[in-house]
Amino acid sequence: MNPVAKRDYYEVLGVEKGAADTDIKGAYRRLALKYHPDRNPEDPEAEDKFKEASEAYSVLSDPQKRAAYDRFGHAGLQTSAGGAPGFNPEAFTDFSDILGDFFGFGDLFGGGGRRRSRAQRGEDIRYDLEITFHEAVFGMTAEIQVPRMEVCDRCDGLGSEPGSRPATCPTCNGRGEVLYQQSFLSIRRTCSTCGGSGQIVRNPCSQCRGQGYRQAMHKRKINIPAGVDDGSRLRVANEGQPGQHNGPPGDLYIFLKVKEHPFFERRENDLHCTIPVNIAQAALGAEIEVPTLEAPLRLKISEGTQNGAQFRFRNKGVPHLNGGSRGDLYVHLDIRVPSRLTREQRRLLEQLRETLPVDNAPAEKGLFEKVKDYFM
Ligand SMILES: [Zn+2]
Ligand SMILES: [Zn+2]
Repeated sequence: MNPVAKRDYYEVLGVEKGAADTDIKGAYRRLALKYHPDRNPEDPEAEDKFKEASEAYSVLSDPQKRAAYDRFGHAGLQTSAGGAPGFNPEAFTDFSDILGDFFGFGDLFGGGGRRRSRAQRGEDIRYDLEITFHEAVFGMTAEIQVPRMEVCDRCDGLGSEPGSRPATCPTCNGRGEVLYQQSFLSIRRTCSTCGGSGQIVRNPCSQCRGQGYRQAMHKRKINIPAGVDDGSRLRVANEGQPGQHNGPPGDLYIFLKVKEHPFFERRENDLHCTIPVNIAQAALGAEIEVPTLEAPLRLKISEGTQNGAQFRFRNKGVPHLNGGSRGDLYVHLDIRVPSRLTREQRRLLEQLRETLPVDNAPAEKGLFEKVKDYFM
């Protein structure tokens, strides 16, 4: 557009040259509401008038630009801007202020091609599942019910009663976002009128009240692999909340809580357990039964086994998640001294005492000396 052919800005707004700011604002507001393209669809003349008025207002509402315009006319703006004086909505203050949030200016002037995808990925869902120790070790199939939003089957997610269709949102012209201006920054925001969908539901679906989604229980079978542990997290892709505006769904995350086992303690993929034996078994040797998560095993204790002795059974632990091998089972012996003796047992132990060496007598450099050495 040739700047020389431009109409005078005061003439465009229909105000006197010395008009007060409030008059300029009021005049623009009337014109903007009258010629706004949403109210004059398919009317290029109205759109031109709207743009012309907006441009005039953008200059006359800015004290510096207005002063330059008053002195030099359109040419004054050309030089100060260092380029064409064309209307630039990004540099325009007060736009949302003057018309409220009713119209989306970014869409009118921001030009095509900048339309952003409104598609939004759905949210992830967390589902907590408690399983037994045994289930964690050997895997299982769990049937779960996850509460999540699902597309309403009455309106197919459109939100409108069957037979009616949503209308294009007048605020954002269906773009779902609006340009706001704050001093130097222009900010794109989700349109508050339509919530970013770009559409307004005039006749809401009776089942979902226009939401397009409804809360549902999503039943699903989950394969829990052998070897999972407390705190393990399983991801089920695309089973989270549905996406918005054709966005992909989120994921479902299953957080596992594994109940403790009364007998086995798990460390990584190994299992540990403690088995009590009495002093006679430890001193003479014995064959005992060791429980495992499967069939029990036999363990030979050799003569003279000390307290805390540890035995390992290979491959009797927890399977590794990525398959193949298993951890080991460690058996710790706890040699128990009998706390109640029959008369016969006491007699036998007294007999035994007479024959056993005493290696903790204070007189010898035995235990006490060693303790002293250690602490000095
Ligand atoms: Zn519905
Ligand atoms: Zn909108």
